[in-house]
Amino acid sequence: MINFTVEPEFQAKLDWMASFVRDECETMDLLFPGQGIMYDMEHTKARAHLKPLRDQVKAQGLWACHLGPHLGGPGYGQVKLALMNEILGRSSWAPTVFGTAAPDTGNMEILAMFGTEGQKAKYLQPLMDGQICSAFSMTEPQGGSDPTHFTCKATRDGDEWVIEGEKWFISNARYSAFQIVMAVTNPDNPPHARMSMFLVDSDTAGIEIIRNCAVIGEPADEGSHAYIRYNAVRVPLDAMLGEPGGGFKVAQARLGGGRIHHAMRSVGRCQRAIDMMVERAVSRQTRGRKLGDHQFAQGLVADSVIELEQLRLLVLKTAWTIDEIEAGRLPNGAARNLIAMSKVAMAKVLHDVIGRAQQMHGSLGLTSETWLAQFWAGVQALAFADGPTDAHRSQLARSLMKDVVPSPGLFPTDHSPTRLAVAMKRYPEARG
Ligand SMILES: Cc1cc2nc3c(=O)[nH]c(=O)nc-3n(C[C@H](O)[C@H](O)[C@H](O)COP(=O)(O)OP(=O)(O)OC[C@H]3O[C@@H](n4cnc5c(N)ncnc54)[C@H](O)[C@@H]3O)c2cc1C
Repeated sequence: MINFTVEPEFQAKLDWMASFVRDECETMDLLFPGQGIMYDMEHTKARAHLKPLRDQVKAQGLWACHLGPHLGGPGYGQVKLALMNEILGRSSWAPTVFGTAAPDTGNMEILAMFGTEGQKAKYLQPLMDGQICSAFSMTEPQGGSDPTHFTCKATRDGDEWVIEGEKWFISNARYSAFQIVMAVTNPDNPPHARMSMFLVDSDTAGIEIIRNCAVIGEPADEGSHAYIRYNAVRVPLDAMLGEPGGGFKVAQARLGGGRIHHAMRSVGRCQRAIDMMVERAVSRQTRGRKLGDHQFAQGLVADSVIELEQLRLLVLKTAWTIDEIEAGRLPNGAARNLIAMSKVAMAKVLHDVIGRAQQMHGSLGLTSETWLAQFWAGVQALAFADGPTDAHRSQLARSLMKDVVPSPGLFPTDHSPTRLAVAMKRYPEARG
């Protein structure tokens, strides 16, 4: 039976998180604004402020909660993680304070799943401890959604691999201690078995950041999504993460989690926008009445609450399904379509809810004096990151149609006259 209730002890943790995020993480958002700063280990003031907050999170047993016990985390499961991520989603700094910021979370997962003991000691432990940050280097300038177009390659030269090629939009590469790079190693294999993953220290000779792309609202020189060229970058043979030709499998292992975790946090972000929307609706007057007394304004609130509740239930059901798979009660793959649905619904609901909250605030909603404009700038980022919405819609529809049998005749199997003819044969007395 589907059940999203939690025991009182865990509810107490959620309550602690809610006030800690509001009092401390949202305060960090104000004191240290911007995206890159969260990953910048050299920003001494932000790091000094962060350390005691992280210590409090660790003392509560809430650090790196995305990892199960077999991967080194507390292992609360996905439903509880969803409830926690809803709270974290309200603040930009909160995931960093709680050790659950992307892309490090996904990188931790694949290191824990596919890393050798040596790789885990060198990369996973400091990443889990929050001492370093990392980048995931997969997308290429000529091919984003479709990895079969990737050309960045690694060729064997004695006891080294030599990486050559370009990557695009690699988040936080400029701040990273290491990068997980996907490169073609087995060009003659079938398309999804051509690439392998490599752990590459970011200070390795030959890594050239051509530029750091800035997104909406960011100054051009503060971008944190790198366009990278790997100029004959040499790494030892043991830098490979996983099997030769297994890069696609490694990538898939991290992307599913990334997608649903973004959706969980988006629920919190939408809730914060709705909180602002309803407060504004009862605070501001126009034409002699409160905004919230006008029916169009009521519609903005009602539609937002309905859509958010739908998204929240979908995300929780997806989380519950993943927990059931982990427990061996549902088959592997049972969550695939639900994750795609969550990813698509998240982008739409974020777009609509945050847009409506901005509308309710009028000109103020466009300024940097509330979080709404920054949230708005992040809407499309979440629509593209981890694969664009359209690719997920398309994959979902294909998956649903895969085993459907075409109708045998000219008309659909659910064609009323055809069915009525069959019914009349069964019950000739029913009609005159
Ligand atoms: C904020 C952000 C952070 C990112 N961080 C990283 C990172 O750290 N590392 C990394 O490797 N990559 C990263 N990316 C890149 C991301 O993975 C790609 O943007 C994504 O895979 C889409 O690729 P593309 O941008 O080249 O778009 P394209 O693949 O060119 O797609 C453009 C459009 O074509 C359509 N389309 C594409 N495929 C399909 C399909 N199958 N069916 C229907 N329509 C389709 C969609 O409308 C889509 O929006 C990041 C992206 C963003 C926005």
